[in-house]
Amino acid sequence: MFDNLSDKLDKAFHILKGHGKITDVNVADTLKEVRRALLDADVNFKIAKDFTTRVKEKAIGENVLTTLQPGQLMIKIVKDELTELMGGDAAGINLSGNPSVILMSGLQGSGKTTFSGKLANFLKTKKNKKPLLVACDIYRPAAINQLHVVGGQIGVEVYSEPENKNPVEIAQNAIKHAKANGFNVVIIDTAGRLAVDEEMMNEIANVHKAIQPQETLFVVDAMTGQDAVNTAKAFNDRLNFDGVILTKLDGDTRGGAAISIKSVVNKPIKFIGTGEKMEAIDVFYPNRMADRILGMGDVVSLVERAQEQYDEEEARKLQKKIAKNEFGFDDFLAQIQQIKKMGNMKDLVGMIPGAGKALKDVEIEDDAFKHIEAIIQSMTPDERSKPSLIDVKRKTRIAKGSGTKIEQVNQLMKQFDQMSKMMKMMQGGAGKNLMKAMGG
Ligand code: GDP
Repeated sequence: MFDNLSDKLDKAFHILKGHGKITDVNVADTLKEVRRALLDADVNFKIAKDFTTRVKEKAIGENVLTTLQPGQLMIKIVKDELTELMGGDAAGINLSGNPSVILMSGLQGSGKTTFSGKLANFLKTKKNKKPLLVACDIYRPAAINQLHVVGGQIGVEVYSEPENKNPVEIAQNAIKHAKANGFNVVIIDTAGRLAVDEEMMNEIANVHKAIQPQETLFVVDAMTGQDAVNTAKAFNDRLNFDGVILTKLDGDTRGGAAISIKSVVNKPIKFIGTGEKMEAIDVFYPNRMADRILGMGDVVSLVERAQEQYDEEEARKLQKKIAKNEFGFDDFLAQIQQIKKMGNMKDLVGMIPGAGKALKDVEIEDDAFKHIEAIIQSMTPDERSKPSLIDVKRKTRIAKGSGTKIEQVNQLMKQFDQMSKMMKMMQGGAGKNLMKAMGG
């Protein structure tokens, strides 16, 4: 996420991070570089200029040059300002209605339908809500189907009226349906166009007026940079929405939208989308994002993600298996699948302080476990539970079946062996505490 910007800011801070004497000249040089980095990330010119002006004023106010660690203090000032620019505190969503109605707005392709599903899934699994998804796109039957597919994936009911061409009516009927059937959140996915146009704006403004949602969210593709900010402005002028959803932050996004949008529309970014899967949704925390932009990682989010996947019951079972020497490839596969649920590898690595930068030139595959999974899937159940059965003949068969090389099978066997030994060791003495710390 934002690799380029992080890289350039890191270079800008190079002088300050060094041990040389820091003068007002090199502070000015640094700020010039910071401004350039922001502009390259597609941050609006005025915002970038105001940003560096504020950092400079703060630096003068805090007498940066006379402090013990002027470089560190400067970086802290930049971090604080960046956090402020992106919204300060995290903003929640209003779920006070009964049902709470959430209206989604945004251009076609911004990720509205996908996000509607992610939000429904988030509210269902994390907030114990009973959401209803509503398809209000009256132009594209495919859009209605898409929402039904999404709803099916996450086990959330989808309300649609394919024959009805009146979105206001559909939305109102959906809310009635929700009330009658005990749904406490209604998420309305609306039609988008490829660009802002009057008809679309009127349509969504009418729906908005008729149903008076608790939350109106504007979804925007972060990859579109400055355009994202302009579109946000157009929608906000009409809808006075409550919050922004930035999608596709997993891609090669430059960061401009994330940094500028709040100060242009004065509405917080509430969630971010970081992938196509239903789990790829994160609450937006400006301070954590600032940390990531400045290459400081985001350990808090990493730990949270690990905790979300952690299942006490499963962990206990696993521990027993390890103690009894019964840890097999099926358990190994289950572990990998848990890690995968935490997000894509590149994203996870970026959350480890310093690792993003250190590994920036290392090619990390989106599906780094693909081969391992294929190999394990080519093993028989017996082989999975008793890896010692796997001799050269079997290895050759497994390699063939999984489309891998025998070296890769060997490597996995070796890794598995090492991991089993390590886990066994952790069972005793000092390891116990470590397992406990890990929640085992
Ligand atoms: P809509 O027209 O606004 O409803 O947009 P869709 O929900 O259909 O999304 C358009 C495309 O973007 C689809 O291919 C989605 O899979 C993809 N997409 C949506 N959100 C994300 C995201 O956070 N990351 C990535 N990489 N792709 C996304």
